[in-house]
Amino acid sequence: MEKTFVMIKPDGVRKGLVGEVIHRFEARGLDIEALKLIRLSRKEAEELYSIHRGKDFFEELVNFVLSGPVVVMVLSGEGAVNVVRKMMGTTNPKDAEPGTIRGDFALEITENIVHGADSEESAEREIPIFFGGLDT
Ligand code: ATP
Ligand code: MG
Repeated sequence: MEKTFVMIKPDGVRKGLVGEVIHRFEARGLDIEALKLIRLSRKEAEELYSIHRGKDFFEELVNFVLSGPVVVMVLSGEGAVNVVRKMMGTTNPKDAEPGTIRGDFALEITENIVHGADSEESAEREIPIFFGGLDT
């Protein structure tokens, strides 16, 4: 079954949205394969967002995901990667449709509540950063 990597960012945890966000994924029918609340190391944050290294928002992005605890998880289900991306809404919450996580709970591009792997290849790269022992 297709797996994806999801992270509730520090703003999502601070706003008390952990249960809400997980509930949406569960209610949709995705299965939770693994889940934990952690503080990222700088190395993990830079690895997660390595494709953005060198961009002007890279430093701000990394510092933001280090600003508090996050919840990382592996979800599985048919088409899990795209299902989660659609449920998240667009990167910039100002453009996100109501009914999406970002469209319902965020306004700022940096503080957009949730990260989801953007492809199966990204998921395969991101999962082992946080769940080393998980068979993918
Ligand atoms: P994520 O990878 O967090 O799931 P995404 O795939 O929708 O988000 P990306 O293009 O991968 O978007 O960007 C990663 C994160 O970097 C975004 O979630 C956002 O917080 C931040 N970001 C992206 N573009 C910008 C920008 N132009 N200015 C500031 N921050 C940005
Ligand atoms: Mg991305």
